[in-house]
Amino acid sequence: MPYSIAIDGPAGAGKSTIAKAVARELGYVYIDTGAMYRAVGLFCIHNQIPLHDEKSVVSHINEIDISISYDDDGVQQVFLNGENVSSMIRTLEVGEAASSVSQYQPVRDKLVDLQRKLASKTSVVMDGRDIASKVLPNADTKIYLTASVEERARRRANELKEKGESCDLKAVEKEIADRDYRDMHRENSPLTKVPEAILVDSSDLSIDETIDKILELAMNR
Ligand code: C5P
Repeated sequence: MPYSIAIDGPAGAGKSTIAKAVARELGYVYIDTGAMYRAVGLFCIHNQIPLHDEKSVVSHINEIDISISYDDDGVQQVFLNGENVSSMIRTLEVGEAASSVSQYQPVRDKLVDLQRKLASKTSVVMDGRDIASKVLPNADTKIYLTASVEERARRRANELKEKGESCDLKAVEKEIADRDYRDMHRENSPLTKVPEAILVDSSDLSIDETIDKILELAMNR
């Protein structure tokens, strides 16, 4: 039976960096589910589909094909209708679009199906918002990874700067707080900590300390 580690938490908590490293350490496959919602968001932006119009987004769902593969270094690549969009989806605009389209149940059903298929084949570390609550409720280890809004905004701003995207710290902080609110209060699969998930607050932890903590939790499950 493949093993699974579910890591849920709000935007900018470091989930992808941590999940990627934990997967590498254990020889598991890392699955970034946010990238899939981002790809759907990107599709809507490219096709001028109004993000806040559920009917309109859902009416295009069968035109959206999302697939995942891994490059030689084991890094997840996301394909939207055959095009590798992995770097294009890493902008604030696409993050916002993902947060809008992820509210719609048919979008979620389509992506959850893909996520479960991927996890049925091999041991995975999967990160997102609804992994423990919905996608993999029987995951072997469940982690809720968070950090303060200020710390998450600081990290996100640094990430964007490294990619050459200019940004204002206060604007990033607001974007993160708004996105948290939307993700936690939506009707379908809101971000939540399931009771059995272990809370890891990385505000005062380095990346390596957070990775070690999660590895320890996974090994002592
Ligand atoms: O994690 P990331 O910032 O890439 O996710 C983008 C957006 O996709 C989130 O704000 C959230 O609205 C949505 N998402 C989701 N369920 C997941 C992963 C991401 O609703 N499992």
